[in-house]
Amino acid sequence: MGYDEIVTTTAWSPGPGCHGGCGVQLFVKDGKVVRAEGDEKHPFSQGRACPRLLALTQYIYHPERITHPLKRVGARGEGKFERITWDEALDTIEQKLNKIKEQYGPEAVLFCQGTGRDIGGPISFLAYSFGSPNWIQLGLAGHSCYTPRLGAMMATQGDYAVLDAAQFSEKRYDDPEYEVPKVIIIWAQNPMPGCPDGFFGHWIVDCMKRGSKLIVVDPRWTWFSARAEKFLQIRPGTDGALAMGLINVIIAEELYDREFVKRWTVGFEELKERAAEYTPERVSEITWIPKEEIIEAARLYASSKPAAIHWGVPIDMAPEGSTVAQAISHLWCLTGNLDVPGGNVIARPTYGVTTYPFSTLEMNELYGEEFVKRLNAKRIGANEYSMVKNFRGWAQPDIAVEQMLSGKPYPIKACWIQTSNVLGGQAANMSLHYQALKKMDFVVVADLFHNPTTMAVADIILPVATFAEKESFRSWWSPLQVIVPAVQVGECRSDWEINLELAKRFNPELKKRYKTVKDLINDRMKPSGRSYDELKESGGWIMPEQNSSSRPYRRYEKGLLRPDGQSGFRTPTGKIEFASKSYEAWGLDPLPYFSEPPESEVRTPELFEKYPLIMVTGRRSPMYFHSEHRMIPWLRECDPDPIVEIHPQVAEAHGISDGEWVFIENDRGKIKRKAKVTPIVHPKIISVPHGWWLPEKEGREPNLFDAWNINCNVLTPVGTQSKSGFGGGAYKTTLARVVKI
Ligand code: SF4
Repeated sequence: MGYDEIVTTTAWSPGPGCHGGCGVQLFVKDGKVVRAEGDEKHPFSQGRACPRLLALTQYIYHPERITHPLKRVGARGEGKFERITWDEALDTIEQKLNKIKEQYGPEAVLFCQGTGRDIGGPISFLAYSFGSPNWIQLGLAGHSCYTPRLGAMMATQGDYAVLDAAQFSEKRYDDPEYEVPKVIIIWAQNPMPGCPDGFFGHWIVDCMKRGSKLIVVDPRWTWFSARAEKFLQIRPGTDGALAMGLINVIIAEELYDREFVKRWTVGFEELKERAAEYTPERVSEITWIPKEEIIEAARLYASSKPAAIHWGVPIDMAPEGSTVAQAISHLWCLTGNLDVPGGNVIARPTYGVTTYPFSTLEMNELYGEEFVKRLNAKRIGANEYSMVKNFRGWAQPDIAVEQMLSGKPYPIKACWIQTSNVLGGQAANMSLHYQALKKMDFVVVADLFHNPTTMAVADIILPVATFAEKESFRSWWSPLQVIVPAVQVGECRSDWEINLELAKRFNPELKKRYKTVKDLINDRMKPSGRSYDELKESGGWIMPEQNSSSRPYRRYEKGLLRPDGQSGFRTPTGKIEFASKSYEAWGLDPLPYFSEPPESEVRTPELFEKYPLIMVTGRRSPMYFHSEHRMIPWLRECDPDPIVEIHPQVAEAHGISDGEWVFIENDRGKIKRKAKVTPIVHPKIISVPHGWWLPEKEGREPNLFDAWNINCNVLTPVGTQSKSGFGGGAYKTTLARVVKI
């Protein structure tokens, strides 16, 4: 038999790098993982697995993986590191950060993470144990990743909502209560490659197999748009106008759910008045979508019940992202598709177990209102943006990088970076973030491989365990599940282990409460009435209870959403708010509207003269999660090069042939990419996948694994954030040109 045991667990970074949740079987032989497969008995993924999961063994046992703590010995950028013990590493970090705290205050240290990996819990726990309010996704312009959508939903309906793919039921699609969506709008996402935001990409395919028709909104043709009833090929960044156009048609043609609107919403007349400004003719001009297509899509969506919307990060990256998300969430409320089978169901973590504190609400529950209020006083961006202060515990990234450089209103002296390759990944305006990080007195990076960030600025590097090597838990909506270790690699430790150890050094009180990570996990899992071991013994996952606040349907009718047990929603009025009281209180327009991209033919015609193409960055690859996995041979073989997708018309106009290297440039810089000439992109845009750096190239400065030459974020700006502080990072709307080399 080719293995000694099979360990059943769930994936949540590191390893596949994603937002996780799928069921996994790890085949172990002689203390090593020899194979990773999907677990067919697991309700979330039912045995399916992506290429990154299947390539897990190459990731875990990669020859260049960092498996021992390292200390920089040469100058920053020289790439000289020496192996040290964990004790020396943690002692050094404790001593250095405490010295900075004494001199400048705890707020002088930023705790920086990447996307929704298994990190929000550990890093916010560490930041608050140290006393710093600055938990941040450093580099993520406008904090344009899910938070604007979450904030808009919380303001509109008092809760978050996701497409209903029966993911809250053990029986999934066979649940008698469930109904397949008749129509699904896939808005600005290609769900298959990455399962973002707690949503398993293939669920859409499952629904299609059961009869769902698709409306796809995207600037690029995708596998889904090629099979759609309607494909709306949109101008990047104009999603807000399209949403208002659809609302206009639905209200004008009285296709909305009158009974639901009358009984459960407020602000309909204000919305009607605002939407009247967005006629199909005007919206067509703004979005490049023919007006007939807009009208037909509105009719198809509104007249099909149930219908659902699945959306992606470009919504957050649109100008005024938190307002665009508001308009889109109004669509499922107008049509009465909220929390109904086959609609957009309200999403709460199973049994209310918080793995990852999404909102200030959860922070207050975890750390107490007084503590959170005290933190807010110094949190970067909280005084500039009410939504930043009141909705979520993040520091605002565009302001933070400026503050790192200026030292005003207070100096930033150190960065703790965990699950984030800032310079090779999310940081817009790579050069600005490079200068800012170089100014830090002390930088710790917890990661698994060297990358442009470790090479350029790390003083200490801590080796992190993959999901196959750690104990953890996950309740990103459903199910509540435990992550079970199968093997140990080198001296690697989990993010929870590293952060708990340090947190206890900064706050010795914690020693009494948490001897081990399992104590902390059990403490967090208390609302479920189960411990880590009990859930592990009983199969490793559990769905929300029937008739509980974390299980669909129509909870607003049953008084399961409001803290006072009344029917309705957790909003200031207890109703769906088309004109948001929260937005109004935060100094924002209570109603949605469209805002023209910061760079465009319309807003910056002169710049457009020079750079007539819209550069859309960030399209997903099944082989990579953001800036990860470029060193994994099986994956690199399938997607070997940093490309740029160019329409044949544009290629011909520039004399560019498929496969040749070209320059992409604008006033911020110039990068090189391999041309992929393809009609799937609109003739006015180029698509430039993000997160590219080359592990096989020289890592030491000045080269930094070629990041300066190929990273699309050399060309993207910071400082385009929404009026709310959340959204508007111009990753999809930056102007550029292609130049034949
Ligand atoms: S992307 Fe999807 S299939 Fe792959 S590991 Fe993550 S959750 Fe599992």
